Amino acid sequence: MTGTAGTVLVLNSGSSSLKYQLLHPDTGVVVHGGIVERIGETDVPDHKAALRMVFDEFADQGLDLADGAGTADGIAAVGHRVVHGGRSFHAPTLIDDAVLAEIRRLSSLAPLHNPANAQGIEVARELLPQVKQVAVFDTAFFFDLPAAAAIYAIDRELAREHSIRRYGFHGTSHQYVSQQVAQFLGRPGDEVNQIVLHLGNGASASAVRGGRAVDTSMGLTPLEGLVMGTRSGDIDPGLVLHLARGLGMGVDEIDTLLNRNSGLKGLAGENDFRALGALIEQGDPDAQLAYAVFIHRLRRYIGAYLVDLGRTDAITFTAGVGENSAQVRADALAGLEGFGIVVDPHRNTGRVTEPTRISPEDAPVAVLVVPTNEELAIAREAAAL
Ligand code: ADP
Repeated sequence: MTGTAGTVLVLNSGSSSLKYQLLHPDTGVVVHGGIVERIGETDVPDHKAALRMVFDEFADQGLDLADGAGTADGIAAVGHRVVHGGRSFHAPTLIDDAVLAEIRRLSSLAPLHNPANAQGIEVARELLPQVKQVAVFDTAFFFDLPAAAAIYAIDRELAREHSIRRYGFHGTSHQYVSQQVAQFLGRPGDEVNQIVLHLGNGASASAVRGGRAVDTSMGLTPLEGLVMGTRSGDIDPGLVLHLARGLGMGVDEIDTLLNRNSGLKGLAGENDFRALGALIEQGDPDAQLAYAVFIHRLRRYIGAYLVDLGRTDAITFTAGVGENSAQVRADALAGLEGFGIVVDPHRNTGRVTEPTRISPEDAPVAVLVVPTNEELAIAREAAAL
């Protein structure tokens, strides 16, 4: 049986869910993992109850998480995914009372996420007091975005006073995947210029120059940028004013519209890419249009980042859609031969489970598919601290 020695427990607390995985940071071998959903709506009243359930589940598997915790025989650390690190956190951070308080304070920037993350941390500290707890921030990889890419052209005083700027999200994934790309190409990370396309339910793109992020599509919140499952991505900010003034919609209504009922769901009634694909096959015109809008937006970002980078060595697809949909990969990069970007249809086939090149071997730009693994990245960061 695989023991717990040297493992890291990775916790990803959402507003109503808790994802967990116990894994070995060196090998990536997962001992056990799962998800508790609908916290608060069911017989699991809160995150504390959820985590207790998780502990019981581990015990049923013969794994006592508290046994030898923090020693060489037990789990080495708990890694917490924290969505917003604001201007306070630019790297994985060992959690103490002050760090936890700061994560809470940043809730104004991420009201749906940071409170849940903080609660997960609090409970884990209580249940595993001997174990180091590490916060890994979704924003950290983008902390040093060049000012020109991070600043909104709005009143500077207001922006400064309220920390309004572009932060970027999915950073753990963008960083992990960009490092995997350099490794795959057999080149030092600081020599590789690349575009990473994280296409899941949430979707974001980034431009990475020599290992450092120089642009990304998400902004102050994860609403900006690409068309997503339920989020609109980029819109004219005047649209918000129009909804409020012209249509009399309230703030919460607009929030729900743009974050939950827009994107593919708003356009086609389905947020899941597989369901969208089925509709397209049936000839559904709304689904076809939704797909076209999704691809158009994606290509617009690819174009912007090619110019940002000047020289691009690799373009990489990752996350649920990126790893599975050959169609999206082909359509996103169609007709770009003039830029040295070619997708080989014989290599670009379906689901990809390990780093794979889908461009011809000698093409100037390597087009890759690299599975993301945020849990492993978090576990490694936590173990490294
Ligand atoms: P998140 O972590 O943001 O919830 P994922 O990275 O798991 O999302 O991606 C979920 C998306 O991936 C869904 O839209 C799903 O339909 C899509 N997806 C999963 N498998 C396939 C597939 N075989 N073909 C096309 N899309 C897929």
